Amino acid sequence: AHARYSAARPKSAEIHTRAREHLPGGNTRSVLFYTPFPTAMARGEGARLWDVDGREYTDLLGEYTAGLFGHSEKRILDAVKMALDNGINLASVGVAEGQLAAILCGRFPSLDMVRFTNSGTEANMMALAGARGFTGLSDVMVARGGYHGGVMTFGSEKNAVNVPLPLHFMDYNDAEGAAASIRALKGRLGAVLVEPMLGSGGCIPASRAFLAALREACTETGALLIFDEVMTSRHSEGGLQKLHGITPDLTTLGKYVAGGMSFGAFGGRADIMGVFDGHKPGTLPHAGTFNNNVWSMAAGNVAMGEIFKGEAVTALHARGEKLRAALNAACAGLPMQFTGIGSMMCVHFRSGDIIRPYKAEPSEEKLRELFFFDMLEAGFYLARRGMAALSLPVTDEDCERFASAVTEFVALRRPLF
Ligand code: PMP
Repeated sequence: AHARYSAARPKSAEIHTRAREHLPGGNTRSVLFYTPFPTAMARGEGARLWDVDGREYTDLLGEYTAGLFGHSEKRILDAVKMALDNGINLASVGVAEGQLAAILCGRFPSLDMVRFTNSGTEANMMALAGARGFTGLSDVMVARGGYHGGVMTFGSEKNAVNVPLPLHFMDYNDAEGAAASIRALKGRLGAVLVEPMLGSGGCIPASRAFLAALREACTETGALLIFDEVMTSRHSEGGLQKLHGITPDLTTLGKYVAGGMSFGAFGGRADIMGVFDGHKPGTLPHAGTFNNNVWSMAAGNVAMGEIFKGEAVTALHARGEKLRAALNAACAGLPMQFTGIGSMMCVHFRSGDIIRPYKAEPSEEKLRELFFFDMLEAGFYLARRGMAALSLPVTDEDCERFASAVTEFVALRRPLF
């Protein structure tokens, strides 16, 4: 697969070789690295991508969920252009940030108040800072295999990086174990940070019972429950919290919310968010040159206020559910399945319920790699780990072609299962 891949992509190979002279690994986003070298894209339009060697792809990755609107949504581009026409950096407050805050607070049950950042990573760091400021408690609990950003890496006991707070781990979907740990840490634990579906961890949904157990134990002990909805906020107008009817104390957002421009947000209960209120004594600082940048704020207003709401949200969700059912039908009976919710899904090469991240066998890794390269060859762009995140311009016909390609993969690679 590598030989065929490399032969078809001489320009991508050259870009990688040159970039490696000054960028370790050849790029600046770890997730985009894979061997032998990543495909370099030249252009995108709607849900189509063209690489630098002229090959065309259906984009099923949707910029890891940030590209929800496709590559050329006119209303977003117009909003950004109009904002930039009025000046790039104004070093002042503007009307658009208050409007976007009102839209988000109107949608997400947990959000009374919100503040903006430039990334989901920063949003999570600020949410943890806010939780500590409010509770006076520094310990944090996260799930093994969760992902909350590229600066603080939680991972597990063995590989946490850059986390300046005392850290505790729970197993995802272990309701009883997690609740017991939270109770045992009463008086020390200030925050439980969790994705209501593991995104990077493989599109593994939390059971409602797990989230409800966290909610109950946090309420009992005074630790703040933080939902990282950076990826999952697309699953309803008010995120997965609204679908489950479980309201965290704080929520973090990111990815598509500003129409594909850089974005993050953290928010929640008014009393907690009050620690950032400059009108009050002892305010916690939250600065950032680009926090309210005019292009993200303008695009966010159009993205969330005009495009991704109501029927658009439910239709995307339904399209994803239908696609995942078709994909799972294509691999029925084999150790292969697609997990996820709505428009987000990820392939796994094993049977049985997947409730938390696991260590894959070499044979599973091999199939995962083949799947990625075979799909690329068939003209479908996915994450290297096998994740898809549908964007609004993806059509039913695109989904049907993808399901056919997966059926062909299963037929061709069956001897390797
Ligand atoms: N939280 C989750 C659940 C994410 O998936 C990501 C990004 N993949 C982040 C936080 C970090 O967001 P960003 O890349 O914008 O910093």
